[in-house]
Amino acid sequence: MTPDNARPGPHRVAQPVVHGDQTPTARPSCDWALAELGRPHLPNPDHRLAISPRCDGRSQRSDCLILYAARQPGRRRSVLTFYRCGMSGTAGSALRVTLLGTGSPSPSLTRSHPAALVQWGTGSSVLVDAGDGVVAQLLRANVAIGELEFVALTHLHWDHILGYPAFVWGSWCAGRTRLRVVGPPGTTDMHRRLVEDFYREQAEWAIDLGYRRAGWDATEVVDIDPGWSIELEGCTIEAGRVEHPPMKALGYRFTVDGRSVVISGDTARCADLVELARDADLLVVDACAAPPPGNVNPARRVILDRLHKFHASPQDCIDMAAAAGVARVILTHHLPEATLEFTPDDYTGEVIVGNDLDVIVV
Ligand SMILES: [Zn+2]
Ligand SMILES: [Zn+2]
Repeated sequence: MTPDNARPGPHRVAQPVVHGDQTPTARPSCDWALAELGRPHLPNPDHRLAISPRCDGRSQRSDCLILYAARQPGRRRSVLTFYRCGMSGTAGSALRVTLLGTGSPSPSLTRSHPAALVQWGTGSSVLVDAGDGVVAQLLRANVAIGELEFVALTHLHWDHILGYPAFVWGSWCAGRTRLRVVGPPGTTDMHRRLVEDFYREQAEWAIDLGYRRAGWDATEVVDIDPGWSIELEGCTIEAGRVEHPPMKALGYRFTVDGRSVVISGDTARCADLVELARDADLLVVDACAAPPPGNVNPARRVILDRLHKFHASPQDCIDMAAAAGVARVILTHHLPEATLEFTPDDYTGEVIVGNDLDVIVV
């Protein structure tokens, strides 16, 4: 199975349609739902989409509701995701993950640098990592970036933070008024050097121009260690160690109403990750160490072979998911030349090859 021919995720969300002079919106509209309804079938036959009543996608009518229902294997209730015009949220579902970037450091038009958005309730969210292109991906995912106030970084490799200063600026431009950031040791120093030291003077100029000072100054950046946890708006977030030498690296577990999602960040096969992901509903995991194809040039092969010391292979991911007893595993962090070969025989859960902008609800 390769990323290109992999089937889409169970909740592949299309982009909203923009007509004529309508300002491109970062929020779902009925036009989007109508476009989806026009499809011959939804990606998964167990899913249902409904809309009531119609509107033009501009009026932001509070009675305009788009409903996406997904029947989960082994569960009696359908998971309902609803979007109101101008506001998105979930009902009956605890957690929602949007894969913002499923690529690697290699530049790609189809796979952005690593980043994911975890959402729950009716507006709570955390951005996990902020690789290059993260702002554009958030907009494509219909996220109101000015309302995104919490960032959790897995580690400080460039492909996970190149978009971080752009996010700080972009979300501030969009109206964000405070920011909390956690990450492994070095995160505070990274923020100081990449954001505060270089851009403070420009930020003061922007504040003079009319930007709200709180959006820049009300920023709290904290270095955290494995074992850290926090209660955030009904969600328990825990950090656990993962194996990504020589970096200090963390995975994160999000738990809401008994449902859990784990995002590994970059990691080699690792018992600590298995423990962090124990019995989770969903594991999003680094599968970067896919075996190189036979025709790769020798210099590139040396690099790809070495990757396995600090990244998991697709088979490692399946094995860790099986050992942890997670219901679904999503493979991410794909190299452009990767061939994702794995044998899921010992794993009874669902394996999904993640693609950019896939949305998964648990
Ligand atoms: Zn890394
Ligand atoms: Zn990486």
